[in-house]
Amino acid sequence: MTTNDVRVSVLGLGAMGSALAGALLEAGYSTTVWNRSPGRAEDLLARGARAAASAGDAVRAGGVVVVCLLDHASVHQVLDPLADELTGRTLVNVTTTSPAESRELADWAARAGIAYLDGGVMAVPSMIGRPGASILYSGSADAFEQCEPLLDRWGTSTYFGADAGLASLYDLALLSGMYVMFAGFLHGAAMVAPAGVTAREFAGLAAPWLTAMTSAFEGFATVVDGGDYTVPGQQSLLFSDLGGLLTASADQGIGTEAVAMVQRLVRRQIDAGHGEEGFARIYESIKQPG
Ligand code: NAP
Repeated sequence: MTTNDVRVSVLGLGAMGSALAGALLEAGYSTTVWNRSPGRAEDLLARGARAAASAGDAVRAGGVVVVCLLDHASVHQVLDPLADELTGRTLVNVTTTSPAESRELADWAARAGIAYLDGGVMAVPSMIGRPGASILYSGSADAFEQCEPLLDRWGTSTYFGADAGLASLYDLALLSGMYVMFAGFLHGAAMVAPAGVTAREFAGLAAPWLTAMTSAFEGFATVVDGGDYTVPGQQSLLFSDLGGLLTASADQGIGTEAVAMVQRLVRRQIDAGHGEEGFARIYESIKQPG
């Protein structure tokens, strides 16, 4: 598929949909855009996009229909009345949905004869079309293959398989890591604040520190995949007890929830007699909810 023989429609011109449509225009794709509320397409129209008066007009204008709306419910709200129009077209849904919601949409699309590709955007809008942007896909392999040159204009495209829920699963798993890390950073910022340290100053210390610590992932992964938490050379759970960190946080007069969550995972394994084993063993606390 080249820029010359594909017509793309983008439904949803929020921050992300606008960035996706902009990258397509930049790459020379014939792009039609639609948004529920008026006034969000002006910049894209100035860059060569065509405006659709309705979602139905947008669908009819595109061989490939990209949907980037708020959530699962809004996707159904917009697309349900247009199932017949979508038949025979390729639908790329990059709205954030849960794996179950993605599978439900894939079933809905299959019943209507729509080729369905689900996407999870691992980027913020300003990253789209630039190095570092990554979008995860699952669903129709044919649709992925057909659309890959187009998808690659947004960022690195990775396809995980025919189960439409997989892209969302990876997406949400990666976001879990991000949010817990963000909470950890903000806990640290709150901890040093009473000492007169600004969050910005703390960020300058935290970013290189946390970046360096990501090198530990590979070692944890080897231990988890090997299933042997007694492999020598690991930091033990007893060594990783966060009691002191909790006390120091409380002494600063701040909440301890973020750190207490990790401490609970550690304590469950220590209490079960695994204190001498590696920190990666908290994976078992997570896998088997207490
Ligand atoms: P946004 O700026 O809030 O835009 C939301 C879009 O959804 C708007 O176009 C809005 O239309 C539309 N919408 C909401 N409810 C609707 C409904 N019932 N019917 C029709 N249209 C509806 O959000 P965004 O940042 O573009 O995010 C869009 C999707 O991308 C979300 O699923 C988000 O999780 C995902 N995503 C975003 C980012 C990010 O950094 N922004 C990163 C990764 C993934 P109106 O203008 O009419 O309100």
